[in-house]
Amino acid sequence: MAIYKNRTDLHMHTISSFDGNYSAAEMCEAAVANDLATIAFTDHFDVDFYTQQNLGIRQQTSYDDIISVRDAFADRIQVLVGIEMGQPTYEPELTEKSLNRYNYDFVIGSIHNLRKTPDFCELDYTTLTQDDIYSLLDKYFEEELILAKWNGFDTLAHLTYPMRYIVQSGRFNTDLSRYDDITDEIFKVLVANGKALEINTSGLRQPIGKTMPTDNYVRRYRELGGELLTLGSDSHFTAHVGANIDDGYEIAESCGFKYVTYFKDRKPVQIKIEK
Ligand SMILES: [Zn+2]
Ligand SMILES: [Zn+2]
Repeated sequence: MAIYKNRTDLHMHTISSFDGNYSAAEMCEAAVANDLATIAFTDHFDVDFYTQQNLGIRQQTSYDDIISVRDAFADRIQVLVGIEMGQPTYEPELTEKSLNRYNYDFVIGSIHNLRKTPDFCELDYTTLTQDDIYSLLDKYFEEELILAKWNGFDTLAHLTYPMRYIVQSGRFNTDLSRYDDITDEIFKVLVANGKALEINTSGLRQPIGKTMPTDNYVRRYRELGGELLTLGSDSHFTAHVGANIDDGYEIAESCGFKYVTYFKDRKPVQIKIEK
């Protein structure tokens, strides 16, 4: 049973994502069964893989499917029309053109790979030295700062994303405290621009066993004036819709947040955290 009221899960993928597995309708059924009040579908749009992933067609299918379930499920759950823009800063013009094609409620900003490099999930960390790993992370956090400054999204997704795969590959000694200055800078940019930070709960069901980012970052964002927080399961399966969302609420509360946020028509709506 759900612990919190009016629960939101603002990060999930349908079959229109290259790695999706279920239709928007199947994901909606799961969300209703899992006692969620508001969800956002956020199919992948990794702009630097536009051609390889046939995103022109996928974007349209995704949008049409989300609109159709939004209307069909309107009396049972609020469905928000979202998109996960991956690496928007690598192809800013194509990004802008693509975002202007449809009226989105909610845009997630993500970095899944460095420029002209495969997704962090595809890199082999076992052969890298610890210095190699830090040099990847140096570039990753620089790209996150560039993304934050780009400012064309509503929430910054899964900050510390590479750690999911670095830890999964058995490299446990990576100390992120060396990035505290740049993560502070990222949070200050979000606060100044009125943008949200995402707590991505997918790591809690994966070997890393932690949210992205972890609670210390959420607390720091709060200390620096952050007020807008979105929660997302990042589910690609019906079984994961709403997964560990209550844990996300608990972290939000423990870090001093009284509200979580969803976005409708690209505007933040604050929902009181209540049990
Ligand atoms: Zn995905
Ligand atoms: Zn992502």
